[in-house]
Amino acid sequence: MIIDMHIHTMISSTCSLIDPEECIRRAMDKGLDAICVTEHDTLEGGRVMKEIARQFDFLVLGGMEVMSREGHLLVYGYHIDIKGVPPAGEVIKRVSDAGGIVIPAHPWRQPFGWYSGAIDRPLEETEFARIFQVIEMYNGLSSAEENAMGKAFCAATGIHGIGGSDAHRIGDVGAVVTEFADDIEDESQLVEALKSGRYAPHIIKPLEERW
Ligand SMILES: [Zn+2]
Ligand SMILES: [Zn+2]
Repeated sequence: MIIDMHIHTMISSTCSLIDPEECIRRAMDKGLDAICVTEHDTLEGGRVMKEIARQFDFLVLGGMEVMSREGHLLVYGYHIDIKGVPPAGEVIKRVSDAGGIVIPAHPWRQPFGWYSGAIDRPLEETEFARIFQVIEMYNGLSSAEENAMGKAFCAATGIHGIGGSDAHRIGDVGAVVTEFADDIEDESQLVEALKSGRYAPHIIKPLEERW
């Protein structure tokens, strides 16, 4: 299954220009099997999109992108909005205790990377490499160099990597995806699949080719 794991729509993200119906049409045109709606700090976008997606018989999975003190975190399989910029450790505890999974988004992106890049060591040498099972290896709004750092990190540590477009404009949808070996029908199956490591991220259309 091909899934774009990281999409913002105008339902809850004021920074996004993406209309929900247009997003679903675009995802279907691009041959995606599903999308994850990951609005900032709320699950609302995913809830609304699921309703809209019914008429298209298209799978929408709910998630969110939580702003933590250390960086942006993609959260899947959790059902309560997380607001207020908590420490990442608190987000990880809350979500893992409830059976969900936390995946750091675009860890190398400036200025929104992990610790905003304000560390003088490679992330491989920090606790970052020990607290996450999975990272966002490829992000559609990160540069080729930043995505290469994600790939190198996963290769060096054996940590699994996903890919998502981080779409804020319709042309971004499906630009970066994750290909899963298993079928996924809902958020709990998504979490299982993410923990299994049976997937690979792909850059379909690099950022440099979309401007
Ligand atoms: Zn982000
Ligand atoms: Zn995002």
